[in-house]
Amino acid sequence: MKLFYDIKTWAMDRLKGADLDRVKVLKLRPCDMVRKDHESGKDAGRAWAHTNHCEDTICVHPGFDTGLDPEHQAGVLLHEIGHVLRPGDEKEADVAVRDRLGITIEYDMEHGLQFIGASALKQIQKAVKKETKA
Ligand SMILES: [Zn+2]
Ligand SMILES: [Zn+2]
Repeated sequence: MKLFYDIKTWAMDRLKGADLDRVKVLKLRPCDMVRKDHESGKDAGRAWAHTNHCEDTICVHPGFDTGLDPEHQAGVLLHEIGHVLRPGDEKEADVAVRDRLGITIEYDMEHGLQFIGASALKQIQKAVKKETKA
């Protein structure tokens, strides 16, 4: 999934030390447990990804690519990276992303789902393009 690798590349350029080590090894994989959480339970409709299931892995809903627009995909992925950077509750994950990567994660009204602004996403993609060229 290209967006994940773009965000990972972009984040790695901005992290140091233990933070960098944690993100460097991160993989993405489709996970049926996420799909089940998405279809049932208290987080229905909101569950698109989780961490702490497989080591060094962000699990995503098998339909992540097609089920969400890029701004939501980026918001969810960055939030999960936040969990990797700073173990703790939901708020702490977003604080880690804001403090260490300078991106503010927002929440939509419908599902309380994470997203980032279109301009923030454009900034990430532009920076990655420049960095991979150099
Ligand atoms: Zn999983
Ligand atoms: Zn979370």
